[in-house]
Amino acid sequence: MNKTFQRCVRCVIDTTDPDIRFDNEGVCNYCREAEKELPKYRFTPDQEKKNLDRISQQIQKEAKGKYHAIVGLSGGVDSSYVTHLSKSMNLNPLIVHFDNGWNSEKSVSNIKKIVDKCGFDLETYVINWPEFKDLQRSFFKAGVVDIEILSDHAIMATMFKLRRKHNIKFVLSGSNYVTEHGMPLGWLWRKQDLTNIKAIQKQFGTKPLKEFPTLSSVEFQMIKMFGWGGVYIELLNHINYSKKRALEILIEKYGWEYYGGKHYESTFTKFYQAFVLPQKFGYDKRKVHLSALIRNNEITREEALKELEKPSYDPQELKIDKEYVLKKLGFTEQQFDQMMSEKPKKHLDYPSDEWVFKIWRKFKPHLVKLPS
Ligand SMILES: [Zn+2]
Repeated sequence: MNKTFQRCVRCVIDTTDPDIRFDNEGVCNYCREAEKELPKYRFTPDQEKKNLDRISQQIQKEAKGKYHAIVGLSGGVDSSYVTHLSKSMNLNPLIVHFDNGWNSEKSVSNIKKIVDKCGFDLETYVINWPEFKDLQRSFFKAGVVDIEILSDHAIMATMFKLRRKHNIKFVLSGSNYVTEHGMPLGWLWRKQDLTNIKAIQKQFGTKPLKEFPTLSSVEFQMIKMFGWGGVYIELLNHINYSKKRALEILIEKYGWEYYGGKHYESTFTKFYQAFVLPQKFGYDKRKVHLSALIRNNEITREEALKELEKPSYDPQELKIDKEYVLKKLGFTEQQFDQMMSEKPKKHLDYPSDEWVFKIWRKFKPHLVKLPS
């Protein structure tokens, strides 16, 4: 960790990211990288239309079966906008929602509004809650940073299985460069690390994992290598994506309601991002999200700094949410506060399948060209 505090002169990322680097002008490595990358994601309205037409035609030509594609809908802005776009592209995707027990009421209503209006089929995967609860409890006890690895891992595995089950070739994903780049690597962990998940559960959990959807790192790399993962299309990377504009359209067309923060469609994610991460680890993800918006010219640096001055949680809301989360996870306030005050642990303090990736990185150039 850098000893003296420094903040990038262009964005709002600072030395709370242990890996940040600044150049002579005080500009961070994320801004410099974005300078090179962002122009690739700028399109004129005409280019945008051509891109979407081309993708739509390709999908309609090559898709087999009932559905053109599969879309994972969390209820957040990005995935909601992908759902909207697929309608405007005359596609008939299967919409999959992963219910890990933490959906906010607003997100349930937003999902319903969009799916109903678009007339798409929705398949909701409901996680085995007692197992998932036990897993989340284990990760709190383990003191590692990425508790969201559990949902992200299960979503990845579920999407893969459902795509195979329905024989769907195309996956329309809401991942995008413009609003998601620049996440410090030290603030999260690799989502495929099933060994890590199992090891932490073995040490701290009380239940064996029977139904939790999994995909090991080896399986994951095999899928990538042999193209078993289907064709991923990051739709938002083919348009001039702006979060502000997407929100306006969702509100206007579907009566969609905003959650007040990125990924806040889930009560757990909100609590984790706005309370656990900053309190225990000193990481404020708002800095990353706001910095991406600055680089995309959606807000100014001054506006972002003002936003950061506000507490990450409204104190009244925090009280309500904390009570709810603790009750649902079965922690007393004392147990929880004790865990929050303990020194953070690294994911690598526990067994990990990092070795698979070390080998993979070493041999990757000699194997096959990976789809990006
Ligand atoms: Zn910067």
